[in-house]
Amino acid sequence: MTVSETQVGRIDVMKPWLGEEEAQALADVIASGWVAQGPRVREFEEGFAAGQDAGFAVATSSCTSALHLALVVAGVGPGDDVVVPSFSFIATANAATYVGARPVFADVDLRTGCVSAATVKAALTPATRAVIAVDQGGVPVDLEPIRTLCDPLGIVVVEDAACAIGSRYRGKPVGSNAELAAWSFHPRKILTTGEGGMLTGSRKDLGERARRLREHAMSVSAADRHASLLAPAEQYLEIGFNYRMTDLQAAVGIVQLGRLEAVLRRRRELAATYASAFTGVEGLRLVGDPSYGITNFQSCWLEVGPAFPVGREDLLARLASDGISARRGIMAAHRQPAYAGADTGTAELGVTEWLSDHTLILPLYHELALHDQVRVIDSVLRAAGKS
Ligand SMILES: *Cc1c(COP(=O)(O)O)cnc(C)c1O
Repeated sequence: MTVSETQVGRIDVMKPWLGEEEAQALADVIASGWVAQGPRVREFEEGFAAGQDAGFAVATSSCTSALHLALVVAGVGPGDDVVVPSFSFIATANAATYVGARPVFADVDLRTGCVSAATVKAALTPATRAVIAVDQGGVPVDLEPIRTLCDPLGIVVVEDAACAIGSRYRGKPVGSNAELAAWSFHPRKILTTGEGGMLTGSRKDLGERARRLREHAMSVSAADRHASLLAPAEQYLEIGFNYRMTDLQAAVGIVQLGRLEAVLRRRRELAATYASAFTGVEGLRLVGDPSYGITNFQSCWLEVGPAFPVGREDLLARLASDGISARRGIMAAHRQPAYAGADTGTAELGVTEWLSDHTLILPLYHELALHDQVRVIDSVLRAAGKS
């Protein structure tokens, strides 16, 4: 390929970093003859719990299923309210709906895109039973003040850390301060297993129940039954789900966990390059670390304010015409048909709407080449009239 061909190639917003090691790990699982939930899932859970300082880790089919399990084990149900940010992927709000509760939308902080104690407080109702606090785009949510507000009221705070592996909060891994935290291994996130999720937390009693519920609430796991010739009779202790991860996925996850430090270093390097390129450009603001933590830049979002010569939609179109696939910023669930007509509380969502309308997500992934990042920067600076 010539240089000019490279330069007109399409630049995607995100690409998973997968290689030979993942392929070999999959081949090993296939050769073992056991491809469903089994020893690799257990190993992945143990590695994940150790890395995140978590009391327990239960692998699931997705973060969405982990969020659902979190609310079930937290005892949330019909008649309860669950405070969630509207400014999040829709799965956050859907988890509340799955258990028959009502999602009540809270606004977010302009700087971080995360809920704060103030925005949660503004959304609380007498029926609030749980809060889902999202580390939005990898930026750690300021969890302690939210727990200070909610713990005395008996409100469970679940952390939606779907995007946040590798991010840190007050010197510790995100999620380690939560009773329950849910994670995603979708390819848009930092590490991937194709699809997959994890539920972690400090409450081991809740973890044990979640572990059973993910497997139909069976008294004996399928892997344990398989291990004995005369399988013990299992019982179904309550109504559970099939939210299992497979050993195929977990084998990939184990390799991916080993890549985490390199991924984080590279993402922060790429984000620093964007930050220095856009510093001083009027109307632009790039997401960054909050005062109390460190982001993994899962979503490297750029706010396009009124002082910028063109609007967000126009900038996206210019990037697209340069072969660059940036993306609109995070959605606002309250504007989606699924929730637009529903009773979802009365909190003001002005910051949510502002961020949703004025941000875009820049291409950022492990193997993003410098010459491609330069193309993205040039395209933005041309729109700014700077080059
Ligand atoms: C991606 C995402 C989810 C859903 O994750 P899945 O693994 O795809 O189910 C939930 N919450 C947030 C904040 C996300 O970004």
